[in-house]
Order: sequence, then structure tokens, then C-alpha cells
Amino acid sequence: MKSELAEMASNEMRTRPDDAPDAVPVPHALVPHLNETAILLDIDGTLLDLMPTPREVWVPPGLSETLKHLTERTSGALALVSGRSLNDIDLIFAPDVFRAVAGHGAEMRLSVDNEADAVHAPPLDKELKRRLAAIAKLSPGILLEDKGYSLALHYRLAPHAEKAIYEAVSVIRADLPNAPIEVLPGKFVCEIKHSGFTKATGVRELMKHEPFRGRRPIFIGDDVTDETVFAIMPDMNGLAFSVGRRAMGVNGHFDAPSDVRAFLARLLDPR
Ligand SMILES: [Mg+2]
Repeated sequence: MKSELAEMASNEMRTRPDDAPDAVPVPHALVPHLNETAILLDIDGTLLDLMPTPREVWVPPGLSETLKHLTERTSGALALVSGRSLNDIDLIFAPDVFRAVAGHGAEMRLSVDNEADAVHAPPLDKELKRRLAAIAKLSPGILLEDKGYSLALHYRLAPHAEKAIYEAVSVIRADLPNAPIEVLPGKFVCEIKHSGFTKATGVRELMKHEPFRGRRPIFIGDDVTDETVFAIMPDMNGLAFSVGRRAMGVNGHFDAPSDVRAFLARLLDPR
């Protein structure tokens, strides 16, 4: 387990070599007509620029309008796919509400009139959360975020603490060998969640329902947890795009969230 964690702690998305043949910026023509497409979008680092702390993210002018118009043009087949909870997503985009796979697949909302259509996990055990929370005391700058279904330790402000954080998590996991939890490494974040669901299980389920069913999905994501979704896109004749890094198995990549936003805006007006 230790070596597994150490490997995950390396925090690297599997990347393609720079000269890989399909590692090119996303060609606009690749995307099918909106009336046969489902648009699936990670939030942090994909739609929104990463900030020093997760509370500081900010929805730039025009993005919500673009997402709302794309929702209309796809007859509702646009969903946010995030590690954040539905609640948190709604706070970020308020007053707008979008369909979503949230909490890394723990929650799904198929209709913007509903709270959640499916919830796949109870909140994390309180005692476990208390022990994990204590890890934040290892260093100033480690920020604890209780997402309900998971707990995240952000260390963007304390990058030197990465190794100590993963070691401490490893010790707690060794104490609880049967706990149904797993560790998700991300960009300067170590997240602990229930096992048994992922962004990919959430997307698979979402795609079984109207208005998504039968459409060709395109998924855009930037982080390690998005790789599970990149991997299932071929099963659905879908397209996968990474942001920042050229991830394995994607159809193309964007350099930055601003390029994703511009791409989405162009989908509405290809001229
Ligand atoms: Mg992300």
C-alpha cells in the first residue's frame, strides 16, 4: 500500500510525449453537431482557473451564459463532472444551476429542478474525518476541505508538506485496513473518499439517462481523477480532451482553462 500511495503521491497525470502524433490542440471540426453531442466538463482547472485555495475560484464573465446556451443547444445534455459536491457547485455558479456528476460520482443530478437524482455514498465516517483533519496540523498552509463525501487536504500553499501528508494518510489507512476508502491524488491536493464510485462510474450512469442517452459525449478534464473518464470515452464513441497536460488516450488538449472557455464559446458560433 505504501508504494502505491507513494506512486499516487507523485501527483502526475500520465502524459504523452511531446511529439506524440495526436498531441495537438483541439481541432474545432472534431466535435459533432450539438444536437447529437453530450458536453461533460470538469470544473476546477478546466472551466475555471485554479486558485491558491478552492474557495477563491471565480466564474469569469460570459462563462455561465455560454454554458446555458450550450445546454439549450444540446437539449439539456450538458453536465459538470466534478469532485465538488452539488451544493458547492451551485454556490460557485449561483444563481445558475447545471446538471452534474458531483463528489467524484457520489452524486448525480439529471434535472436542474431536482436536488439530486442519485446519491451513492454516505458521508465519510466522522471519526475517520477527525483523524484525517488532524493532518492539517502538520504545517501551516495545509487547508482542510470537508466535501461531505470526501475530505481534501490542499497543500498548494505548503508544497513541501506533500510527502508528510501522504505518509500520515498511509498510517491512518494502515490502522483501518477494512475501511471502504481510497486516496485520490490531485494537483496539490490529497483527497480521501469512499471507494466504489468514480467520475467514470458517474458518467456511465449519467449517459444512460435522458437527455444524455444516445448522444456522443465529449469530456474535458485536467487532473488525475479525470483519467478514469478519458478511459471510458472510446466505449461510448466519445471524445476526450485534457487541459494543461497531454494526457494518455485523449483526442486533443487545451493549454489552459481560458482556451477551454474560448472553445466552448466557438461551439455556439463556429464562424
Ligand atoms: Mg479539475
